[in-house]
Amino acid sequence: MKTMEDRLGSAMSRLLIFTIVATAILTGVIEYLSYFDQMKTEVRNEAGAIASVANTQGEAAINAALGESTGSRITFIDMDGTVLYDSYADAKTMENHYNRPEISAAREKGTGEQTRYSDTIGRRTYYYAIRLSDGKFLRVSEPLESAFSSLMRGFTLIGLFTAALLVFTLLFAKKLTKKIVEPLNGMNLEHPLCGEVYEELRPLLNRVDEQNNLIRAQEEATRRSHEEYMAITENMREGLIVTNMDEVLSVNNSAIRLFRVSREDVTGHGIITVSRRPEVMDAWKTAVSGSHYDGQFLMEGRTFEIFGNPVLIDGEIRGAVLLIMDVTEKARTETLRREFTANVSHELKTPLMSISGYAELIEQGMVRQEDLSGFAGRIRGESARLAALVEDIIHLSELDEMKEDSPKEDTDLLEIAEEARKSLALTAENRGVTLTVQGEPVVIRGIRQVLYEMVRNLMDNGIKYNKEGGSVKVTVGKDRDHAFIRTADNGIGIPDADIERIFERFYRVDKSHSRATGGTGLGLSIVKHAVQLHDGRIVVESKQGKGTIFTIFL
Ligand code: ADP
Repeated sequence: MKTMEDRLGSAMSRLLIFTIVATAILTGVIEYLSYFDQMKTEVRNEAGAIASVANTQGEAAINAALGESTGSRITFIDMDGTVLYDSYADAKTMENHYNRPEISAAREKGTGEQTRYSDTIGRRTYYYAIRLSDGKFLRVSEPLESAFSSLMRGFTLIGLFTAALLVFTLLFAKKLTKKIVEPLNGMNLEHPLCGEVYEELRPLLNRVDEQNNLIRAQEEATRRSHEEYMAITENMREGLIVTNMDEVLSVNNSAIRLFRVSREDVTGHGIITVSRRPEVMDAWKTAVSGSHYDGQFLMEGRTFEIFGNPVLIDGEIRGAVLLIMDVTEKARTETLRREFTANVSHELKTPLMSISGYAELIEQGMVRQEDLSGFAGRIRGESARLAALVEDIIHLSELDEMKEDSPKEDTDLLEIAEEARKSLALTAENRGVTLTVQGEPVVIRGIRQVLYEMVRNLMDNGIKYNKEGGSVKVTVGKDRDHAFIRTADNGIGIPDADIERIFERFYRVDKSHSRATGGTGLGLSIVKHAVQLHDGRIVVESKQGKGTIFTIFL
């Protein structure tokens, strides 16, 4: 593309060349015309002078001597047109001049003139004729070429001057162009209002500045919303995939981790590069066809929920957004809750059925008078079990409700253990089990009631699953940074296969034994919950027939 400098330069140069050459030509023409006029005047004057000499001194004055004294051609013509004398040629050889226009005019008006080509001298010539007093004619002529040649000298001078002028003006034009263009080249379009430029450009530069500000503001807004988008999507735990109708536009960190892909490998490619799972494909296809998708899939032992939604712009489907959430915990707690509800109903039903069975027998008079108190005792026992069960369920749901940040207080574990011992002393005695608490006072921050239930449940189990003459030793102490509380019994112990499951709700190694001792199968669930609530850890060591040690580190 041509530069402005080139264009301006060449336009200026052309204009200059045209102006100078036209001026030169015009000057030449004017010069020529004035020269021609001058020459004519000279010829006329000369002719006038010679004529007056001829009129006064007679025709003899017009002779070769006169012809030689002047540079002009002098011709003397008779009345009938015969050439009498010519200073350039032999008059005898010349044809009759009667009809020459200048002669005819002179015959009629006294003088005549014409410019034409002369056969005699072979040049364009200016002729001027005067009628003399005796009726003959005197003609003075000057060849034009001599006018040209003298003019050409002038022209050469004009030409040289013109050429010099041209060179100078062209150089000047180049410099001027540079100077005109310089501010334009030096214009800073980033900051158009800084710096000196032509006033004519001011509106344009103002507009550029406005546009710049607008673009900057738009860029800033785009950057901010992008940052916002990134901050949200990159820090969310859910996987997020945004696509247009053919390819993935963006995929967040969670989705990358989840599907073990790299951003480069999926961005700009089909959804299939993210995952080949049918649920992912279905979710995407459903979304791009304009519907909502909600499904689940299992991956590496975890449960995920996937949502697909269409992206609508101006009512037209332009792509899809897929959201993938890890719902393993939710699914697990839902299963647990379902199981728990089923278990609770079952557990509550058993004592209730017994109670209603016994009551029915009494009602129908099928129980003898002497057995009545025994039946009443069973009903009382089942009711106590029911009460214990309900109490444990309430405890557990209370623990479920509690959060890790529930208000805590300084609690001495030894004091709690001592309290629990006191409350269980009678039970232990009835079963022939010695219950002892030892150790040092250890104060931790915790929920007193929860810690108490925890210790009491462990001690209660130690007594329940024990033998006559057995013992339960509770030790409270500090192991490095952690407080611990340990209950060690020398009771029946737990089979290895069951150890893993004893913390499950309603799990009992030996149902009948548990029931006989008033167990609900919820005690250790409460313990586990209480430990979790205090960020603690529980260790079980047990040997069947030898005894069990529960150690809780807090
Ligand atoms: P339960 O109310 O039946 O005692 P828990 O949740 O407290 O329920 O205990 C679950 C099961 O773990 C019990 O049924 C029992 O079989 C076993 N168990 C708990 N503690 C002991 C222990 N100290 N010695 C032997 N078995 C125990």
